[in-house]
Amino acid sequence: MMQILETAIIPIEYDEYTKESALELKHILEQNPQFFKAIFTHYQQISYQKNQNSFYLQSNNTINILEKMYAGRADNCNKKDWLDKESGCSLLLYTINKKIKGAYDFSEFPEEEIIQFITYGYIHETKDYENIESYFINPEAKQQAIEEWLYSKYSLELLNYLIEKQYKKIVERLLLGREENLEETLNTMIRITSEVEWFMEEQEQDCTISTSQEETDNLCKEFLMEIDPSLNWYNLFCNAKKTGVFIENQNDKRVIENKIEVDDWCVFQDADGRWYIYSPRTGTIQDSIYTIHEFIHYVVRITQPVLEDNVCVLTELPSLFFEALMRRFLMTQGYPQEELEKDKYNRQLGISKMSSLLLDVLFYIKNISHGEKITLEQELQKEKKRYKEWCSNEEINLDSLKENIIRTMKTSIEELIEDPLFVEETYPYIIGYRYSKLLLDKVDQDKNVITDMINITPILNTLTPKEILTRLGLKEKDSQNLNNKKGLIKSEKN
Ligand SMILES: [Zn+2]
Repeated sequence: MMQILETAIIPIEYDEYTKESALELKHILEQNPQFFKAIFTHYQQISYQKNQNSFYLQSNNTINILEKMYAGRADNCNKKDWLDKESGCSLLLYTINKKIKGAYDFSEFPEEEIIQFITYGYIHETKDYENIESYFINPEAKQQAIEEWLYSKYSLELLNYLIEKQYKKIVERLLLGREENLEETLNTMIRITSEVEWFMEEQEQDCTISTSQEETDNLCKEFLMEIDPSLNWYNLFCNAKKTGVFIENQNDKRVIENKIEVDDWCVFQDADGRWYIYSPRTGTIQDSIYTIHEFIHYVVRITQPVLEDNVCVLTELPSLFFEALMRRFLMTQGYPQEELEKDKYNRQLGISKMSSLLLDVLFYIKNISHGEKITLEQELQKEKKRYKEWCSNEEINLDSLKENIIRTMKTSIEELIEDPLFVEETYPYIIGYRYSKLLLDKVDQDKNVITDMINITPILNTLTPKEILTRLGLKEKDSQNLNNKKGLIKSEKN
């Protein structure tokens, strides 16, 4: 037998089994009258039974959800400007972070509270009160809609915030506080990044030649003996092998403690200051190339104190140079050219992808460094101008330009959240790759280039980029004879 319980907001229909629950619900509703009136405005009653014009209360779950809408929050959500820009920006940051990393590691708020807040906000904005329960029972299902809603409202705000951070990092870490050098540095970075050859295909190619651990080690040893007759590097390598510097196991305690990504080859330091090389073997000929790349980083690291606050932009140069020499060496050892070309292609592809992302970010930073906020209108003007310059004959489709801009912004936001050190971690590959190519061109005529690189590598971080280039006989303005407009055209079509 169903009975009616009157409340200040809406009647509740209940029976003898649900009486207690109904009383509890009345209490909850009357604590937040304004908010719940808004929620239940389309219903005549709340009922524990399914019938027309009733808000069907399926389970106590809904009561638990409603109970969490405490008065302060509910009132807030009812206001017109319930979410200020800064909070909206934080919520978007939260949502993207959660999507990328599976967790929100910036917030002092409990995760559950943030999810509730976002969800309330979304329901309130879309006025979709009917589905309130499903939102809370399965928040994942609404994830994408909520994310798009937040993006449409707060992406510009968030982009400006993230770019401002990158700008400060460049000044602080690449320029050591010398802000007056920023304009010139940014222009150089943009120029060099624009020169990277752009690849249309996006697939990495798998090497198929399998190589055993022993064969890999022997190839590395023979290579080191050939390039460095003093045998210093050869001895260092043998010693590293003997003393457990190389760690292959992804479940190794030190690998886990340092949060190293499972298939990322890298050099890292443990709490006692000892350096290691994490080498997740692929079992192919690429292992020997990766080993040389990381071993060169290891040489730099163990011979110099770690400079925490300073980033030398040429840190990738020796590794990229010697990995390319290793490819050449493997060719002389009879390994098939097409297999080594695959590895070379993968490297180029990686550099090309990085440069594409970095170029967008650098242009944004330039904006911010001039004291201008990034706006949609302004980006559209720039995009139109570029389009006219490079595709003068084609008619401009404003909608597709706008779409491109929004997509670029979204990509940049996600990249910067995923990797807060994005600029200082990617630029060294781009500039390093550029100069290593110039050096490799010289090697054929002048073997001294290799000796110069061997001498410079252990002291790399004690020299300024200018000193390094001078010692190597390179100039900052050396060009690769590439069409440096490519980067611009690319950023337009991406
Ligand atoms: Zn590297």
